[in-house]
Amino acid sequence: MRDGHEIYDIAVIGGGPAGMMAAGRAAELGRSVVLLEKNRQLGVKLLITGKGRCNITRDEPDPQQLAEGYGKKGRFLLPALRAFGVQDVVEFFESRGVKTKVERGKRVFPASDKARDVRDALAAYLRQAGVEVRLNTRVTGLAADGELITGIDTARGRVVARRYILSSGGCSYPGTGSTGEGFDWLRDLGHNITPLEPALVPIITKEEWVKEAQGLSLKNVRISLCQHGQRKDQRFGEALITHFGLSGPIVLDISKKVGELLPQGEVKLYVDLKPSLSFDRLDERVQRDFAKYRNKAFKNSLTDLLPRSLIAPVIRLSGINPDKQVNSVTREERHRLVNLLKGLEFTVSGLLGFEQAIITRGGVDLKEVDPRTMRSRLFRNLFLAGEILDLDGPTGGYNLQLCWTTGYLAGQSAAAD
Ligand SMILES: Cc1cc2nc3c(=O)[nH]c(=O)nc-3n(C[C@H](O)[C@H](O)[C@H](O)COP(=O)(O)OP(=O)(O)OC[C@H]3O[C@@H](n4cnc5c(N)ncnc54)[C@H](O)[C@@H]3O)c2cc1C
Repeated sequence: MRDGHEIYDIAVIGGGPAGMMAAGRAAELGRSVVLLEKNRQLGVKLLITGKGRCNITRDEPDPQQLAEGYGKKGRFLLPALRAFGVQDVVEFFESRGVKTKVERGKRVFPASDKARDVRDALAAYLRQAGVEVRLNTRVTGLAADGELITGIDTARGRVVARRYILSSGGCSYPGTGSTGEGFDWLRDLGHNITPLEPALVPIITKEEWVKEAQGLSLKNVRISLCQHGQRKDQRFGEALITHFGLSGPIVLDISKKVGELLPQGEVKLYVDLKPSLSFDRLDERVQRDFAKYRNKAFKNSLTDLLPRSLIAPVIRLSGINPDKQVNSVTREERHRLVNLLKGLEFTVSGLLGFEQAIITRGGVDLKEVDPRTMRSRLFRNLFLAGEILDLDGPTGGYNLQLCWTTGYLAGQSAAAD
């Protein structure tokens, strides 16, 4: 009997990566487990990770090295990573039929390039372990008595268990179900929630011309972040031009620093479109192209050098008359063009918010969670996992890895309790 008649050993809130891993692990260890998810299906956000390909983890087997990627708070993850690290995650999925591959930047993806395969493997794990999955079940609050959680209130009545695992995610991409209610419940119960901010967010820029090149992916570019004429940070990799400005992995990663600097004045980004060539080498390359197209108009001379949607904006920004014959472009004009290609300027006007943020920075204060078990230090029978914790990493598989790791440990600790 269930629903207040017989109690479950463990109730898990949230059917995202952390909650699925936690529920499966606890049930695999012989516990009766119920998983409550408000969506019609499990892992809605997981399905859109890595543009639908799911960057499962980062190929960094050394826990210490991996933990450093999360900044100072990464130390919190060390015991959990030792219990269930990158290699364990890869083996977990491979043993469930999800072959993996490693791409540039140590990014691990399913060989099929399908996030759905990752989600389906987790759903099968839940089925095999005997987890009772309740979809369309929205949790409205947690009841507590002293240092014990006593029940979960849902739109369909109260669910009671001996232990509870909260993995309801952050506030980013709220359309996927991650609307941040878990933070409110915990705050009301006395947990400290560190300030919540959208993180890994696209950047809005002032330049109108970006609309002409929207959708253009710039591979192998270098982006430099400058303020008051000084370079503050830089990244190398892939960026994306959007209708509002810039996105893509290196832009998301640098957005944190942009957010920190914006209150102190204007922030500029310079995109080096040809970082492997020095100014002189690129100048030589441009001269070769100019020689090839010497009898054409300048506007028709850049097709070998630039993607089509960038040509018109670059010509305008160069200030060179587009109809001028290439062989009459002056040295000074050509140098202006080369400078532009080595540093296409963007002025930041802001960052997008939670709607478009990859993750939420901030969450349950790590001082209030035992890193060896993921147990709340305030409630003996409450465990926390995933993005709800005050932990976040850069792009590249860090954020899902922390979900697998903390989810596994929370499930195991709750089961062993
Ligand atoms: C566009 C995008 C791409 C990303 N790509 C990657 C990537 O490739 N690699 C990577 O490492 N990370 C990626 N991330 C980050 C990653 O998706 C998150 O870190 C991860 O999903 C967090 O997992 P979670 O289980 O903690 O929370 P979530 O995935 O947010 O799951 C929480 C679940 O709880 C449910 N829930 C919430 N409130 C309630 C309630 N009141 N009642 C019942 N259920 C509730 C939600 O519906 C949701 O299903 C990406 C994020 C986005 C937005």
